[in-house]
Amino acid sequence: MNSQYDLIVVGGGVLGTFHAYHALKSGLKVALLEKDRKPKGATVRNFGQVVPSGMNTKWQAYGRESLRIYKNIQSKFNISVRQEGSIYLASNDEEMQLLEELYEINKSNSYPSQLLTKGQCLKKYANLREDYVKAGLFFPEEIMIEPRIMIHRLHEYLEKSGLDLYRGETALECDALRSGVQIYTSLNRLLSTSKVLICNGTDFKILYPQLFIESDLVVSKLQMMQTKPQPNYRLRSSVLTGLSIRRYEAFTECPSYDNIKAKENPDSFEKKWSIHVLFKQATDGSIILGDSHEYAPASRIDELGIDLNMDIDNFILQEAKKIFDLPTFEIQNRWLGFYSQCKTTDIYQRTIDDDIHIVTGIGGKGMTASAGFAKENIKSIFYVEHA
Ligand SMILES: Cc1cc2nc3c(=O)[nH]c(=O)nc-3n(C[C@H](O)[C@H](O)[C@H](O)COP(=O)(O)OP(=O)(O)OC[C@H]3O[C@@H](n4cnc5c(N)ncnc54)[C@H](O)[C@@H]3O)c2cc1C
Repeated sequence: MNSQYDLIVVGGGVLGTFHAYHALKSGLKVALLEKDRKPKGATVRNFGQVVPSGMNTKWQAYGRESLRIYKNIQSKFNISVRQEGSIYLASNDEEMQLLEELYEINKSNSYPSQLLTKGQCLKKYANLREDYVKAGLFFPEEIMIEPRIMIHRLHEYLEKSGLDLYRGETALECDALRSGVQIYTSLNRLLSTSKVLICNGTDFKILYPQLFIESDLVVSKLQMMQTKPQPNYRLRSSVLTGLSIRRYEAFTECPSYDNIKAKENPDSFEKKWSIHVLFKQATDGSIILGDSHEYAPASRIDELGIDLNMDIDNFILQEAKKIFDLPTFEIQNRWLGFYSQCKTTDIYQRTIDDDIHIVTGIGGKGMTASAGFAKENIKSIFYVEHA
């Protein structure tokens, strides 16, 4: 077959787009198909916190590589990267213990972090409540991006670098031929390529629906809020708090983690909805606040429904007010987000007929780890090396 492309990526979210980026960098001829004119998936609905500090050792390595990639692109083209760091705030002795243990783990991994006293936290973070914070662990290398800007800017950058981007065009069918693959699209186009990479996020009903029904993929539904712009107020980094310390994978590697978790009340409201409280200031001065998690198997995604549960938002707001006295807690936007993850593995990967590769289910770590993971994955699919 005379292939038009070396690689067609299906799905223009962060995972698909960074696969396209690395393939282009390797000198391959690449196309990206995105079903919406502008992506509407998890990639534009998240906090935009790029926090390798929250990942286990394996995924922290991908996250750290992602930091290098984001910063490198930003030095050439504005994709909304800001290096302001991230902090975890402990609210009691148990959480402080976990911060100290994570500090030691990161020291042995040569990942810079700084333990901050209560006084240092109060000095650095305006309006932080004295009766909440006991100590903090700060990661200076970490960045934030603007989710509603970053992916569009990255697409623009890749188009300038030679990517063929088919916006508003759905891949409806992939046919493996004796050599290469043909893709049929919603605009009656037939594209030919040597390999296909499908990064479909949570869209399980278009390509290979049966495969996803039979998989162990689950979908998580998250609730998010955004305050009105804060008058004369600056939050000096991403902020993760006590409930995140008890949730993020990095802390599962701390020696005290299991003992501390065993003491938690399994029937609490925050456990029922897997709530933790994160803060990030957007460039318009508003604060993004979240989040909660509700789960359903990929085969029963519709059970997650379309409603925003006001009890959850009220709980997040009530907890947020215990942490920061923000100038305003008036909410201007509320939205749902969905991401997929596997029950038994840390990402979903399948290869069909040698040349069709499915990669999804990166869970809550996609903005942080996709760029680094995709670099390695492109190398393993194409056996290529690049800078
Ligand atoms: C509320 C929320 C907060 C989060 N916060 C963070 C955070 O702060 N930090 C972090 O690291 N991660 C965070 N995450 C996780 C992160 O957003 C996801 O892991 C990541 O965006 C997943 O990217 P993706 O490309 O796999 O999926 P998606 O962003 O869903 O992209 C998939 C794309 O594929 C397209 N598509 C599907 N099928 C087809 C088809 N057949 N043809 C053409 N196009 C198709 C879809 O239109 C979609 O645009 C958060 C997630 C949510 C929901």
